[in-house]
Amino acid sequence: MFDQVPTLLERLFLGRSIPRRAALAHHMPRWLVERIQRAEFQRTLQRAQALSPYYRRRFVEAGIEARALQRIQRPGQLGDFFTTSADLRTCDTREFLCAPPQAGFETTGTTAQNKRIYFSNEEVHDIGFEGAVGLWNLGLRPGDRVVDAFDYAFWNAGITLMHSLNAVGCFHMIASKLEPGEFYRRVKEYQFNVLVVDTAWLVSLTEIAQQQGTWPVKFILSGSENMSETTRGWVESVWKAKVYQAYGQTESLGASGIECPAQKGYHLNELNFLFEIINPNADGFGELVFSTLTRKTMPLVRYRSNDITRFLDDAEPCGCLLSCLRRVDKIQGRGDEIVSCGMGMISPWIFERWLDAAGESGLGARLADDWQVAVLQPGTRDIIELRLELREELREELREGAAAGNRGLEEELRQGLMAQFERIFPYYFKNLHMGLFDLRVVFLPRGTLRGPSAGTRRKLRRVVDERMPQAVLAAP
Ligand SMILES: [Zn+2]
Repeated sequence: MFDQVPTLLERLFLGRSIPRRAALAHHMPRWLVERIQRAEFQRTLQRAQALSPYYRRRFVEAGIEARALQRIQRPGQLGDFFTTSADLRTCDTREFLCAPPQAGFETTGTTAQNKRIYFSNEEVHDIGFEGAVGLWNLGLRPGDRVVDAFDYAFWNAGITLMHSLNAVGCFHMIASKLEPGEFYRRVKEYQFNVLVVDTAWLVSLTEIAQQQGTWPVKFILSGSENMSETTRGWVESVWKAKVYQAYGQTESLGASGIECPAQKGYHLNELNFLFEIINPNADGFGELVFSTLTRKTMPLVRYRSNDITRFLDDAEPCGCLLSCLRRVDKIQGRGDEIVSCGMGMISPWIFERWLDAAGESGLGARLADDWQVAVLQPGTRDIIELRLELREELREELREGAAAGNRGLEEELRQGLMAQFERIFPYYFKNLHMGLFDLRVVFLPRGTLRGPSAGTRRKLRRVVDERMPQAVLAAP
């Protein structure tokens, strides 16, 4: 019977009108959400087993028989069966497919192999439609004028947003990720009162607006990465408007969650995904894992997001229209060494390529093997700090040069590295030029990064996010 519930819910209860859907969402009982999730999860497993060569093989390898699969209603019953980002990168993506795709997106620049995710047009439309309820909850109405400054290249966020804005019926224009100064010059006359933007890009725009003036804005929605509360406070004070954040990944079509007016965590999109937090520590922080519930083209079963967060309990109810959807806390860090920051999604692979290129250009002979990249945020903008250990003889040369008041050699080394950066990463260089982040190179004596007491056993973390409290980063 409950196989029919989502359809019935759609047709009889929620309907296709955004205001009606938003109003009714407020009254949707929690037990109904959970019952729908169980029915859809069961259906997703059946579909994956029947139509996806990848999942059929994985279920056999895990010893999960088709008949046993029919009895599974909760993700935890699958034990340690997960889908990881490494699976998406290393397996032939076509093996995941259960139907011919109509739309495709890529994750950007994190590793040598981008992840590819496929959808039907209907799935993209439906996720955007669901997102419209979240925007309505933030106060978006048909009379508003929205400008979207998301990057469109191979990325889904803008397309999903476009479907959301169509559903609400407001005026909108796509600025894509125009250079903030040019954006500022060109958009003022349109009187956009809602800005939907990339987080780091918003910081650059706000710096310009602080100098040259703002215009009346109802709210700003930023996506793509975490924004610190200090930065949010500053951006809000400049624009005199609330800044909300959305949370998602390409794998979830950018639609895992969205903040509500209370700005206390993201309401999860529980009609399209079933979320779990695995390996929680004493404070409840663990890795967020999701299964898709309504995707028929490329379903994902227990996909490990690598994002560390926790479910927020109901001790502080927000009272908004989406109260029946659980919330998660701000993302506290990545479970691995992929860090989302003003430069984009960065991982050790990027810096390995950079240093390889420097090596080929002759600079490498001067560098030791140890390096680390730290993401810092002393003010409002992320600083990407490349910490490079130098070979001892070069260190000596630099020391002698500095003592003689000559910093030429150090500067020459730095310029050589920056020239290589510009040559091999035009995309990141453009973001640097746009002021989305600062990049600095710090030279260190050999042995500094691993520390004197750590010996050689310690594995050096190549990318560290020092914007986050260390206590939280120590979580699993
Ligand atoms: Zn809320």
